[in-house]
Formats: sequence, structure tokens, C-alpha cells
Amino acid sequence: MSKLVAFAAIQGAYNMVAKAEGQLKKTLASKDAATKVEFPNTAYYLPVIYSLLGIPVKTIEDLRKPLAIAKKLLPPHVKRVNHLPYLGPLLDAGMAALFASEITEGLRYVNDPDFYVPGEEVDPSSGKIWLGAADDTIMRKRGVEFVDGSAPGFAAIVGAAPDVETAKLIVEDYQKKNLYIFLAANQSGTTVAEQLIEGGVQIGWNTRIVPFGPDISSAIFALGFANRAAMAFGGLQPGDYKRILKYNKDRVFAFVNALGEVNAEWAAAAAGCVNWGFPTIADTDIPEILPTGICTYEHVVANVPHSEMVQKSIEVRGLKVTVTHIDIPLSYGPAFEGERVRKDDLYCQFGGKVQCTELVKMAEMSEIEDGKVTVVGPDLADIKEGASNPLGIFVQVAGREFQTDFEPIIERQIHHLTNYIQGVMHIGQRDIAWIRVAKQAVEKGFSLAHIGKVLHGKFHQDFTKIIDKVQVTLFTNKADVDKLTAQARAEYKTRDERVDKMTDETVDIFYSCTLCQSFAPTHVCTVSPERTGLCGAYNWMDCKASFEINPTGPNQPIEKGECLDSKYGQFKGVNEFVYKASRGAIKSYNFYSLVHSPMTTCGCCEAIAAVLPLCNGVMTVHRDYTGDTPSGMKFTTLAGQMGGGAQSSGFVGHSKYNVTQRKFLAGDGGLLRMVWMPKSLKEEIKDRLVRRGKELGVPDLIDKIADETVGTTEEEVLAFLQKVGHPALSMPPILE
Ligand code: SF4
Ligand code: ZN
Repeated sequence: MSKLVAFAAIQGAYNMVAKAEGQLKKTLASKDAATKVEFPNTAYYLPVIYSLLGIPVKTIEDLRKPLAIAKKLLPPHVKRVNHLPYLGPLLDAGMAALFASEITEGLRYVNDPDFYVPGEEVDPSSGKIWLGAADDTIMRKRGVEFVDGSAPGFAAIVGAAPDVETAKLIVEDYQKKNLYIFLAANQSGTTVAEQLIEGGVQIGWNTRIVPFGPDISSAIFALGFANRAAMAFGGLQPGDYKRILKYNKDRVFAFVNALGEVNAEWAAAAAGCVNWGFPTIADTDIPEILPTGICTYEHVVANVPHSEMVQKSIEVRGLKVTVTHIDIPLSYGPAFEGERVRKDDLYCQFGGKVQCTELVKMAEMSEIEDGKVTVVGPDLADIKEGASNPLGIFVQVAGREFQTDFEPIIERQIHHLTNYIQGVMHIGQRDIAWIRVAKQAVEKGFSLAHIGKVLHGKFHQDFTKIIDKVQVTLFTNKADVDKLTAQARAEYKTRDERVDKMTDETVDIFYSCTLCQSFAPTHVCTVSPERTGLCGAYNWMDCKASFEINPTGPNQPIEKGECLDSKYGQFKGVNEFVYKASRGAIKSYNFYSLVHSPMTTCGCCEAIAAVLPLCNGVMTVHRDYTGDTPSGMKFTTLAGQMGGGAQSSGFVGHSKYNVTQRKFLAGDGGLLRMVWMPKSLKEEIKDRLVRRGKELGVPDLIDKIADETVGTTEEEVLAFLQKVGHPALSMPPILE
């Protein structure tokens, strides 16, 4: 901590206590000691003194006691030779300054009773704009908003902005975030309150912009308000200072913005606020107090540009922004999730035949701007009707509690969150996403940027705990999309490999995934270390992280329980879970088989495997391959039959990654049964396919697997298998 801050704040506290003492002496000389001292219409006396010290000040005489306490709290002056620790004495000095402030304001009510305007409203034409202490009616009515969350907290702004526009910019931004704005103190005679009035902004309790008073001492009204709310709504007793301060720290998201030069008295007040856990964010170059301790994060942050003031304050105080309204021209909500965009309604699509990729990446807090949405390349208005256009959705998120492990979970939400938009359909995930936009949506003014808005809003709503900032970039030029796709694929690879060394046997817990039940009501994915979710987007680690973020969410731990069949992979605990989660539709399923009671399949599977009886093996086809397959069905036909949550012997949906996981169809003979897959899939998973072939003792397995260049009928494939001596041919019959 800076010695300079400590020096200034302690000096300021001395000044303020001396001032209060002088005022008290003067008042006592001119008035009867039994003269009443009170803030208007309150049962809480001078509320900061009453709440923290338990002293009910009723008369001028009664002020002596808190003044004596303030004096006692004043620490020795910081000497040049005197080093750490500063924080303790600094906090005491701050507290002394605040008690002195309340004494000063109490005396003002005695000596200048008409200084403040009573009530909630400000009428600038009356020439009086300062409201002073809020009475209990206002405190009850407004304080409850802090408790029920409709107001997350308040920004106490002291001083003045460099100009009217800046004052408006900052205050209006806080208003948008539902915060109260408490105004106090002046900077060379100018105040934010006056600046706002000049800028035509309505101030008063009704617009949540509250001008308390023109001096730094009037900042005490903000703290008095907070402490009364703690007593009224938190059931805390006067004098229980520890709990009252803690209540504020935990429950009231408040902070101070110091605009303009910070003098010693401001520094003292700022130090006082640290006792409440309220940090100060300043626009000038004052020494910072960064180590975190009492405040949630930093105590004093300096040199913040005005354009970043709001964002920085919110960050420093750890305030969670709630976005209540998703501002797009279309209806939005789960009701539209299952809605299709059919051919006749289609305006254009992203993905399908062209590339569509989604990537969520963690960013540093300072790297991104919350709520920023950029469309790089043509937007819907510039895209021709009927077109298929590439798209890359790049979401950057930041948060103090965010971890890279959470990226895939956030990314997987893009699917249903985009589907919630009326007239927009989203299929798939990762680098096989596919978005269809209806004509009606475009007619209503829908733009790609709205996808960004939706993601920003919903990520804030649904992941308050871990996400503080969301920035979205949508690319529609092929080159950009390809670049993002390459980056995304490298990320997917890293994610997939995190479970590589784990085995199903070494864990007791598998995870469920029921995210897809809105489309496939009986579908329940069970994800084990050696069986990634069939969409490819969730592996065991991801589900674990997802459960951590959202304990009541779609990924629940499943105690796998007794192993009922180790060959096919059947577990008692899993069966029980699946039975319940499918509402009785599915009684049991096997992890490692497609021949016998395979797992259910939903429409987002990356690939579908099918038995080829003639070849005594299996084939698989992934979504990108649109040609014929030896099963007699194209991918779309297979997906159409299986995608609703069906469990059908001989077929199973799986992720591309799963093909080379050790347990892939292990009960049916494993990867050695693989006799056909599209060439592009072979290419895509080549490295792992070769490695896995070696592990299985067939190093050239990849060359023995037929593809469309060999043929797309079972007969053609069989002839090839015989020629190359495919291992499947010498295995026991696949269908007993
Ligand atoms: Fe979850 Fe399975 Fe749907 Fe993937 S496919 S999101 S793992 S339910
Ligand atoms: Zn699905």
C-alpha cells in the first residue's frame, strides 16, 4: 500500500474531525445543549453512528460521545521513517472521518434547516437541488430494491466530470445497469448533479440519480442509507458493526467514483468506505491500493479513463450485471427452440454445405469489451435470398472465476440459445454448426449482430457466477471463417485429449447430458471418460465442469454402480438414471455396443455407425459426407430415423473422436470391425486412427478400411476387404 495515500487520508481525517469539533463547539456556544439533532423522519437517529456505535444521537450534547470516539480512532500521523502496516490505521482514520462527516451534517440540519430539500424530487427551477438524508419512507421503498436485486447497488460519485457530456455518459451507463447513482461533493465548485441538470437529465430518487449534497461530508448519506437498509432488511442490530459492515460488503454492490483531483478529505472518506468493502475508482493519478483484502477486489484504482469508468468500477467491485431484456426485433424464448425453418420459409443459411464454426475462448478482463458485437463481412441485408454463406461465431468471455475448462460448456449453449430466436434454427455445434434464417425474421429486421446480443445477454443471465464480460465477433467472409475454423479445431483437439489418459474403470462417476431433450425427449447421453457425448462437444471433463458451474443443470453425476455387463458396458446406476431421465422410455443401454441395446441417439450426433451384415463389420458416416453409404442410407436419412432419441439395434450415433477411443464398440469387436468410412473422415482422424490401429496390432488398419472411392455398396466393400485381408472377416459373426 502506498504511504502517500495513507498520509493524505490520515491528514484528511484530522481535518474533518477538527472541523466537526469546531462546528460542535460553535453550535454549543449559540444553542442549548438539549437542542434536537436529527435527520428528517427517521427512527435511526444519525444512522452511521447509530448503526456502528449503537449511540442514538438525539441532541447536540449527544454528539460529544461519537466525536470523542472519532478523535480516539485517529491514528498517529505517518512519519517518514514509519513503514508498514498502513491498512489498519488507515481504515480507522477513514472511519473517524466518516463519523465526523455525520456530525457535520447533523449540525447542518440544526444550523441551516432549509439547506436540503425534503422528499424525493428535485425541481431545479426552485434553485435548490440537494436532497440530503433520505427519510425512512424513501429508505424502505428504495432499500428493498437492493435486497430483492432489482437494484444491484449504487455508485457514489464524488466531484465533477470534466464536462457535461462525460457526466451524462457515466451516469446514464449506470442507470442502464439499474444502479442507483448517489452524488456528493464538488470539484472547484462544480458538481455532477449540476452538470446533469445542465445536460437536461432529470435527477431525483425517481430516476435513481440522487444528489445528496455539495460537500464531501454529504457522502455520509449514502452510507447511512446502506446501513439503515442493513438494519431494516437484514435484521441487524445497532452497534453490531461487524455484521453491518459485512452485510454491506456481501450484499450491497457499491463503490465510489472520484472525479477530479482527490484532496486529503476525499482520501479519508475513500479510506472510510473501504470498511464497507466499497472501493474507490478514480479518474486521476492517485496512488493505488491494489492488494485485495477487505473489498472484494482492489481498494483504490486510479487513472481510469472516463470511457472505462463504468466497466472498471463494476469489475473492481465484482458486480454482476444482470441483463433482463434481450433486445432483438424477434420473439425470444424456449418456446421457439423446437421450431424448424423449412425450405419454403428459408431466407438463407450458414453452414450446411459451407463452413460454420463456433468457438468460445477465455480472454483477459482487459482484452475485451463487454457487450461489444461486431459483424465482419456481409450481414443478412447484404446476403442474397437463398444463399448459403460461411459463418464463424467467435465468443470471447472473461471473468474472475472463469477457467478454460468452462469454454466448451459455454460454447455448447450457443445451440439452444440461438434456437430460442423466433425464425432462426440452429443445428450442430463446433465446426459443423448450421444456422437457418427464415424470411419472416429478416423482414422484421433481424441481423447477425442479434445473435451476438442474444449470446451476450444470455451468458450473463445464465452464468452470472463465472462470466463478467462477453464480446462476440461474427465472421461471414470465407477467409476469416477458415482462419477461425483452424484455430477452433486446434482448440477442440486440446479439449478432446484431456480425457485421453483416463479410463472408464478408474472413475466411479459418469455424467449425464440431457441438453438435447427439447428436441429428443427420450434422449439421455451418458458421458464416460472413454465415451465422449455423441455431439462431440461434451466429454467427461466438460460435464464435470458443467456440473460445477450449474449443479442443477443438464449434466448430473451418475454413480455408475454395479457393472452388469463388462463386455457391452452396462451399469446398474446408469440404467436407473436413464430410466428416470427418459421418463420410463428407456430401461437400459449398453455403452460399448451398437448391436445390443445401444445408447440413444439425438440429431446432433457427429456421426452414425451402422452394422454391415454382409461384411461382418460396421461402417460410420459423419455429417459432412453427403453421398451414399454401404448401409443404403445417407447421413441425413440415418439421422432422420435416429435423431429423435431412438434406441435401435444396429445403429448408434457417436462423436468423431469416439471412433478412436478405446471403448468404441468394444463389445462388438471394437475398431477392428470398422470396414467403411468416408475418406474425409479418415483424413480428419488419421493420426489417431493410425495410432489406435497399431495399439490393436493392425498398423495398416486405416488402409484396410474402405471408403467411397472403393464403393458404396456392401458387395463392393466386401470384395475390397477380402483383397486386403480386413480383420473383421475373421472375427466371430457380428449378429449372432
Ligand atoms: Fe449433451 Fe448428448 Fe446433446 Fe451433446 S448430444 S449436448 S452430450 S445430450
Ligand atoms: Zn442433440
